[in-house]
Amino acid sequence: MKWKDAVLSLKPYQPGKSIQEVQKQYGLESITKLASNENPSGCSETVKEVISSFNESYAIYPDGYATMLRQAVSSYLGVKETELIFGNGTDEIIQVISRSLLTSNWNTVMATPSFSQYRHNAVIEGAEIREVELVGGAHNLPRMLEEIDENTAVVWLCTPNNPTGVYITEAELISFLKEVPKDVLVVIDEAYFEYVDAADYPDSTKLIETYKNIIVLRTFSKIYGLASLRVGYGVANEEIIQKLEPARAPFNTNTLAQLAAMTAISDQEFIAECKLENRKGLQQYYRFCEEEGLSYYPSQGNFILIDFQADGDEVFQFLLERGFIVRSGQALGFPTSVRVTVGSAEQNKGIIEIMKEYL
Ligand code: PMP
Repeated sequence: MKWKDAVLSLKPYQPGKSIQEVQKQYGLESITKLASNENPSGCSETVKEVISSFNESYAIYPDGYATMLRQAVSSYLGVKETELIFGNGTDEIIQVISRSLLTSNWNTVMATPSFSQYRHNAVIEGAEIREVELVGGAHNLPRMLEEIDENTAVVWLCTPNNPTGVYITEAELISFLKEVPKDVLVVIDEAYFEYVDAADYPDSTKLIETYKNIIVLRTFSKIYGLASLRVGYGVANEEIIQKLEPARAPFNTNTLAQLAAMTAISDQEFIAECKLENRKGLQQYYRFCEEEGLSYYPSQGNFILIDFQADGDEVFQFLLERGFIVRSGQALGFPTSVRVTVGSAEQNKGIIEIMKEYL
């Protein structure tokens, strides 16, 4: 059997412990998972209704082109239907981009620490990986530009960045894009787009006509509360979409997921409420950090990276044994921190009490 050496060096993705696993292991009744940046409110009532009344046949393959969802997203964003690609989560689109563009002849530039899947897929494809350290939780764009050369195929930007929550401003993004050679694909991963509350945060989907070498990634897993159904999408110039389409699985988004996602995008009132709740939740953490003298990055996502100046695994374990699942910073490139998803007001209050006990 022939395997790529690089793939053999990878560990499978470990998303942290499941609720059931923790419950069993520690004999706990109530477990709160604040580890994967999901929406504590779930999805909207309208979406729940659509899901519960779903009665199409499971025996029939889904629409591989996601026609109705495509129409809904296209009219919501004001882009052409041909400027969209749908994936089994944005995870799949990251995979499709890597599969389509990266080989051992090419290099790819990304920030570190950032979302793990850019690196993971680049390793699988055997591409040379050029990582540029964050500065103050933010992408070091001038340094990233320096890393780009004639062998660069893809550059990854994550804004707001997971795990720091720091975003790239419109001015920064545009001056970066102006410098990037036109044959390099720039991926702008905006998984947390809907949570951002900053006047200088760009609406990158509006840039696809001017910059024909960008693809903007968004997802239904975060604020839309549909992580389990797996739907994400990319917005790019038609030519890019056409190049990516062959590498995706033919029926990658299922019928129920398509239906739920198209309903979800039409219920923006719910999204506005969730955004507001998230901002209030972030304030709870900011207050706690300030009272306790802990440093953190002001976040534009639905998560916060808190530096406990202690072993992140130890803080993680302490919280786990008391019923809260978070992410240890050890796994995220911030060894003395933990990343906590903003939960409901009550969940936030609960974990903050336990964090105080730890201190
Ligand atoms: N990008 C970023 C920055 C993320 O944080 C995540 C999920 N953690 C994803 C992409 C993948 O999201 P999904 O596949 O659920 O759309």
